[in-house]
Amino acid sequence: MAVRTQIDRPPKVPEIRKGDTVVVLAGRDAGKRGVVERVIRTLPAPRGRSMFRRGSTRGGVTVVVEGVNIAKRHTKPRQSSSATDRMPKIQQGGILEIAQPMPIAKVMVVCSSCGKPTRIGHTTLETGRRVRVCRHCGEQLEVKS
Ligand SMILES: [Zn+2]
Repeated sequence: MAVRTQIDRPPKVPEIRKGDTVVVLAGRDAGKRGVVERVIRTLPAPRGRSMFRRGSTRGGVTVVVEGVNIAKRHTKPRQSSSATDRMPKIQQGGILEIAQPMPIAKVMVVCSSCGKPTRIGHTTLETGRRVRVCRHCGEQLEVKS
């Protein structure tokens, strides 16, 4: 029986990062492009606790992409019972549009150099830094900041 060690399972770093442009592969928003706002790593739900969680209980990485997988919440104007000096007592009604997290497997990074959706390769720079590269054109995919 094989013994699993740390070496067999290196920590998985999400290949998609905040600020990346991605294209949606599946679902209602398939084909849409947007910028990643958040990358969320979740752990699987403990057994028996699933009913207290919303959505998937399998864990994994999800991403929030600007303008994609929007949930619209209609809110009525209402009076807050716990009004303070800073918080107005009356909330305005309207439609809130909130981007919901989606599984990272449903999006693909779009290369900023060649504009194509691409899988991600890795290369090591002369400085020893590991960077992500586009499999089409070989350009780096690092987010410029
Ligand atoms: Zn490219």
